[in-house]
Amino acid sequence: MSSNYGKRAVKTPTRRKSPVPVLLLIVVLLVGTVAAGSRFGLLPLNLFHRNPSPAPAAEISAEPAEASAPVVVAEPEPEPLPGEGIIVCIDPGHGGKDPGCNTEERLEKDDVLKLALCMREKMEAQGITVVMTREDDTFIKLMDRCEIANKAHANYYISVHRNTAGGVAYGNEIWKSYNATEEASSLADSIMAGLNQVGIQRDRGVQEGSQDHNGDYAVLRATNMPSVLLEMGFIENKKDNKLFDKNMDAYSESITQAVLDTWQEFHGDPADSGDSSAEAAASAAN
Ligand SMILES: [Zn+2]
Repeated sequence: MSSNYGKRAVKTPTRRKSPVPVLLLIVVLLVGTVAAGSRFGLLPLNLFHRNPSPAPAAEISAEPAEASAPVVVAEPEPEPLPGEGIIVCIDPGHGGKDPGCNTEERLEKDDVLKLALCMREKMEAQGITVVMTREDDTFIKLMDRCEIANKAHANYYISVHRNTAGGVAYGNEIWKSYNATEEASSLADSIMAGLNQVGIQRDRGVQEGSQDHNGDYAVLRATNMPSVLLEMGFIENKKDNKLFDKNMDAYSESITQAVLDTWQEFHGDPADSGDSSAEAAASAAN
C-alpha cells in the first residue's frame, strides 16, 4: 500500500492535465467565435477594428426612419382668421324704456342696435369673439354693460351711439377716456380714419371725457379694457342719416379693420400668439 501510495504520488502530476492548455483552447475558441461573428455581422461588437470607419450619417438615420415612421401626408392646416383670439364687447347704447335721442322718424336705440348687429357679423367673420351688452330692445343699466365687458375679459369695448344737437350740428365724433391708454387712443384714431375713408359728412375728431365736460362717460370709466364711444352722426341731420343707412356695412367693416389693426399694432399677429388669455388679462389690466 505504501508503494502504491508512493506510485500514485509520483504519477499524479502526469495524470493530471495542466489547466493551462485547456484555458488556452477555450480562449482561442472564444476569440475565434467572436471574430467570425463580428466579420459576418452577427455580433454588434467590432472588437477587431481599431479604427472602424463610421457608417455614413444618412445610413444611420435613414434606416430606422424608413423602418419605423409610416409615410404620413400632412393635411394642410386651415389658415387662422386674423381676429382669432380677440374678444370685443359691442355696446349698442340705450334700449327698452330708454330710446336715446330721437326724431319722429327714428330712435337712437334702434339705429345703434342695427349697426351693432352688423358690426358683430363683420367681426365674427374675421374670427373675432363678440360679446353684446344687448341684442334686442332691452334696457340695460350702464354699470351692467361694463360688467358684461369686464367679466368677458374683452380686449376692446366699443359703445355705439347717435348724436343730437337740436339740428345745428352734423358729423361723427369718437370719445375716449381722459386716462385713455395708448391702445385705446390708437383704436379711436384708427376707427375715425376708417370712417373717413368710407365717407362721413364731417370728422368732429376724437375727444376726451364727455360732451357735458363732467368727467368720462360711465362706460369709458368703468370698463377695464381700451374702450371708445362712437357718435355715429346726428339723428336730426338728414345727410348724416342717409350716410348712416347707406354705409352701415362699410362702417362695420372699417370698424372691424380698426380692431384688427390696433390689435396687430399692440399684440402682434393673433395667429402667432398661442396664449390669448394672457394677453386678455394684460389688456384688462390697462
Ligand atoms: Zn346715445
